[in-house]
Amino acid sequence: MPHIDTLLAQAGRGRDPRTGAISTPIYQTATYAHPALGQSTGFDYSRTTNPTRAALEEAMAGLDGAAAACAFASGLAALTTLLCLFKQGDHLVVAEGCYGGTYRLLDQVMAPFGLTVTYVPVLDQAAYRAALRPDTRAILVESVSNPCLLVPDLPGLAGIARTAGVLLVVDNTLLTPYWLRPLELGADLVLHSASKYLAGHNDCIGGVVTVRDEALAGRLKFLQNAVGAVLGPQDAWLVLRGLKTLGLRLERQQRNALTIARWLQEQPMVTRVHYPGLPGDPGHATLKGIASGLGAVLSFEVQDRATLERLIAGVSLIAYAESFGGVESLITVPAVQTHANLSPAERLRLGVTDTLVRLSVGIEDAGDLIADLGAALALDPGMRNDRGTSAGG
Ligand SMILES: *Cc1c(COP(=O)(O)O)cnc(C)c1O
Repeated sequence: MPHIDTLLAQAGRGRDPRTGAISTPIYQTATYAHPALGQSTGFDYSRTTNPTRAALEEAMAGLDGAAAACAFASGLAALTTLLCLFKQGDHLVVAEGCYGGTYRLLDQVMAPFGLTVTYVPVLDQAAYRAALRPDTRAILVESVSNPCLLVPDLPGLAGIARTAGVLLVVDNTLLTPYWLRPLELGADLVLHSASKYLAGHNDCIGGVVTVRDEALAGRLKFLQNAVGAVLGPQDAWLVLRGLKTLGLRLERQQRNALTIARWLQEQPMVTRVHYPGLPGDPGHATLKGIASGLGAVLSFEVQDRATLERLIAGVSLIAYAESFGGVESLITVPAVQTHANLSPAERLRLGVTDTLVRLSVGIEDAGDLIADLGAALALDPGMRNDRGTSAGG
């Protein structure tokens, strides 16, 4: 098996023997002509199979060590289809602090169909065990929670799932197969929002599910076609193109994130930094034991509301925007953006305070990013006002 760097660089190669095109062609077609009655080229209709999407799916299966991968129109389309593996009356154990859209899908869309959920604290192994019931079918957890970046014990959870005879589903969007391969740790299904690191350029929306077991892979492929929330060929191509530089981007983003996290720790207006890459972080040792990288998303608390407002208004290189994982750095305020639909009490319990800021570190120069943050944190609004007044007068 080639090294992951080789798999990434060569993702999608060799798909067009006729011309030898190095880049995977974008098969922008809905349907395919059949050679003769009862025959097929292997492609019948693009919801079922499309060669560009198939190239991405093969690449992702290879990266995750999976029996198969299925690509979807978004991370949530991927999760919706995955949840169709279950039925009315089934119960899931889900780690708290999961992606806001995951909560929304489970509580507001799936619950009315009779899928029940018990949420448990990310790090509490006993709580996962205690939440299991005879009708439990799966445990769903993110490899690193967000925005507080807690790291669950995945091998431990795989053991709990195996003993109970339920599936372990891991949302690995924050780490990608480059850093962590949950199927190797005993997970059954892995969910990826390709909109983040896999595509990596803040330019498309997509999702992928990889699956370890052949029979389950067959069921998932059936659902992919039956539900129909598939990834289009153009976006499949963008994700494939992103994969080629995934390792390069992540190495740089991780290096930048560590530099920025260390700098943030020294700023008097910053009261707390969450980043598993810091040796003192609670998730550091756990993640080091299972992953080859420690991520490039960090979050931090500033001392008060005024500092938060100054920071968000003052950054110029770093964009104030939702999402993470792209080459451009983005800053987010989870309490008013990604976690706005939770009650204030629930937010507080999950550590999402009103002055918590999430930073997705891009591939820019770390010094420039620090200068941008530093200028925004230091900007005295009074002074800025003075300057404005004198310039105006
Ligand atoms: C973004 C995200 C999703 C949803 O993916 P979309 O592509 O936005 O639908 C799911 N899980 C995590 C952890 C995410 O960050």
